[in-house]
Amino acid sequence: MIPAASPAPQPASAHDGGRGGDWRRLWRESVRDPRELLALLGLEAAALRISDAAAAQFPLRVPRGFLARMRPGDPHDPLLRQVLPLDAEMQPAPGFAFDAVGDAAARAGHGVIRKYRGRALLIATGSCAVHCRYCFRRHFPYAEETAAAAGWEQALQALRADPGISEVILSGGDPLSLATGKLAELTAQLAGIAHVRRLRIHTRLPVVLPERVDAELSDWLRSLPWPVAVVLHANHAREFDADVDAACARLRAARPAGGELVLFNQAVLLRGINDSAEALEALFERGYAAGVLPYYLHQLDRVQGAAHFEIDDARALALHAQLVARLPGYLVPRLVREVAGDLSKRPLA
Ligand SMILES: *Cc1c(COP(=O)(O)O)cnc(C)c1O
Ligand code: SF4
Repeated sequence: MIPAASPAPQPASAHDGGRGGDWRRLWRESVRDPRELLALLGLEAAALRISDAAAAQFPLRVPRGFLARMRPGDPHDPLLRQVLPLDAEMQPAPGFAFDAVGDAAARAGHGVIRKYRGRALLIATGSCAVHCRYCFRRHFPYAEETAAAAGWEQALQALRADPGISEVILSGGDPLSLATGKLAELTAQLAGIAHVRRLRIHTRLPVVLPERVDAELSDWLRSLPWPVAVVLHANHAREFDADVDAACARLRAARPAGGELVLFNQAVLLRGINDSAEALEALFERGYAAGVLPYYLHQLDRVQGAAHFEIDDARALALHAQLVARLPGYLVPRLVREVAGDLSKRPLA
């Protein structure tokens, strides 16, 4: 899990010249107290069954800009439900484990997870700007496992040693929670590995803290010698607003030296949040309006504390079939589940 004292991003350095400093301030000003969150939304803590034990296990964290997209007075708000620690998380749920997706077994080097052909996933950092209650990494031993913490070197050795790796996936945690200079250190080293031909970035930051996509980040993206895929993570249409649209536009405009930058979104099917054909259709339509194509729709990873979000496969398949009937093919994501030991995400439909 992400430790309660999850590391804050490094303070802006002197040579930063103020560029890119703003998102760090917004990060630090995030709401971390569930009662403050509810008070800001005009909700009664008692009525919502918030859990201090769940918050102690995986602390609340919400940037104020994301909070501003929640509907005041609505205890069922789909954005609120993704971040609020509830009693339900502490109920025992058979079959829900600490390492739901077999990451511990697939570890190939410090912070490197190698499960699928051609692709290596780098746990760049354990920090995230928002803490999502359903996250399969809520119990991951980030302190020991992040590639940045080890100065990248062990991760780079693992990547250099395996010529079968053509794509490096920056994940976490949220890799864009690292200072841009830290990311640039990594990509400068990756550029020296001839078999790496693609870079992918899995990030929720442009959605939850769109200010992260600043001029410094765009300059870094433009400097990269590979095509870049950015896979965002939004689960509900209301996560998009004008600021997120603008961040997506800035990302798409930051064309890497080595190819195009393409924006995708992955979402998780979540009971009470997006488990209707209407909600999902609105999400993929809204994403497309921001220039984002749907990639995967994930069945929940069965991680301890997330059982109350689960939707059974029959219902998931029925929802997917409704999407196929409603949307153009390019706006229908693949419905998948991650199964430990499989050679890819497992398609359900
Ligand atoms: C999901 C995942 C990937 C990427 O899989 P794609 O199907 O290419 O999106 C790569 N490595 C690991 C460890 C993963 O969990
Ligand atoms: S941002 Fe991603 S990695 Fe971080 S808590 Fe949310 S789902 Fe998990």
